[in-house]
Amino acid sequence: MADMIHIDGHPISPDHYINGRRVASSETFETFCPVDQKVLGRISAGLDEHVDAAVSAAQAAFPGWAALGAAGRLPYLERFAEEIGKREEAFALAEANDAGVLLSRMRHGIVPRAMLNITWFAKEALTLQDRVIETTQAIHQVRHDPAGVCAIITPWNSPLMLATWKAGPALASGNTVVIKPPEWAPLTTSLLADAADAAGLPPGVFNIVQGMGATTGARLVADPRLARISFTGSVPTAKLVATAAAANLVPCSLELGGKSPFIVLKDADLDAAAATGALMYRNAGQVCLAGTRFLVHESIRDAFVEKMRAVVANLVVGDPRDPATEVGPIIHPRQVERVAGFVERAKAAGATTLWGGERHDFGPQYFQPTMFCDVANDAEIVQQEVFGPVLVMQTFASDEEAIALANSTVYGLGGICYGEQAHAQTVADQVRTGFIWINSFTIRDLAAPFGGRGQSGVGREGGEWSFDFFCDVKDVITPKQPFKASFAHR
Ligand code: NAD
Repeated sequence: MADMIHIDGHPISPDHYINGRRVASSETFETFCPVDQKVLGRISAGLDEHVDAAVSAAQAAFPGWAALGAAGRLPYLERFAEEIGKREEAFALAEANDAGVLLSRMRHGIVPRAMLNITWFAKEALTLQDRVIETTQAIHQVRHDPAGVCAIITPWNSPLMLATWKAGPALASGNTVVIKPPEWAPLTTSLLADAADAAGLPPGVFNIVQGMGATTGARLVADPRLARISFTGSVPTAKLVATAAAANLVPCSLELGGKSPFIVLKDADLDAAAATGALMYRNAGQVCLAGTRFLVHESIRDAFVEKMRAVVANLVVGDPRDPATEVGPIIHPRQVERVAGFVERAKAAGATTLWGGERHDFGPQYFQPTMFCDVANDAEIVQQEVFGPVLVMQTFASDEEAIALANSTVYGLGGICYGEQAHAQTVADQVRTGFIWINSFTIRDLAAPFGGRGQSGVGREGGEWSFDFFCDVKDVITPKQPFKASFAHR
């Protein structure tokens, strides 16, 4: 059994939340702060019985929750968002402490976004049943029937944002959920259960099972009672999840890693591009959608390097709980070693270090914002996701070359293209990716689709794409003329 965790006076349960109750495990695991390695507490590790109980609870709650309809669910979900808002400081401190996310970003960006993830989809669901397709012979009423129990598996780099981004549309459209939070950053998901509880969500509608991926997560995704699996995480884990899902023919949505291009065309505003370029070190580079592969036109390469070097030199690396900090820690010693391994191998392969390239003296889980160049296109540092503050730069001589380089990895998640608008648009249109920002970054509207191509994912979430995924789409067909049964009829 694990004790209650306290973060700056805010209590956080270490336990699962199943059928409207906190449930403890006999087995626990440690969670600690990446800034100073201080142990924050121990978390219940979900055993088979907890996963089974959570899915059973979600299954039992499903008919009642689905029957409420979108209008009936709306007040519950609005209260859920309000309860998240009431706990804003607890959420912000929890994720700053266990994941190392900037406290200021939690307060001003992520917690408000988590609330919106719930309310936006809850309101949008009101119009879900309105879609009608009319042809000469029939009226098709397109129904979005809730699918059932949805498993939600989230990674450690943005656990609160991602849990609500998935639970929002799943719940709004009448499903019940079982969330398996990341073992390296479990605290904010636990707080979500407090908010759901205070909002009066019926028992079993919203469940959380804490635990390790290889045990708790694997048990959950193998459960044949699931109707959907929504997974965000790494490519190797996604293959395991997809294999488990395939065994039961459960549809799954996979949001995975990337090595997205950051293209700087010769007519780009270099100051703007350099300022945005430095944002790739946000969250210590542990951001799936970051443009980590810089492709810079050879004619402006030196000028761009000097501008970005100047911005990066002023980045404040430090404690994410300090409002001045811009770049925080790497989540876990294992991830630090992974990042260091990429850096050592890049150097061994002959890459030139433009800046950084060493561990940062702020603490053992810190790495300097780093940029490599002079690398072959097939080098590991160009082709593989590092998921740390390590970027790589290549040059190109023509748009065709830029596009060919941008499309030369196995990934296809995001992209950024700086240049004169029409020029950037032409290039962006030819990049093989799920989304690409022109002269901007991180604009994420909830109505828009999000997801990746190639090894970056399968399926899209966001807006109507979330509802299409979390629902069984049904066509109710009424003929315009009386139907005459005939074997000759089409
Ligand atoms: P991960 O794949 O190691 O773990 C993700 C989640 O899966 C965790 O909750 C983990 O416990 C669970 N898990 C592990 N093994 C499992 C199994 N066998 N069955 C079921 N669940 C299992 O990923 P991570 O290291 O936590 O996250 C980093 C990765 O996530 C990066 O590759 C990053 O690019 C990606 N990511 C993608 C997006 C996106 O939207 N495309 C967003 C954020 C992060």
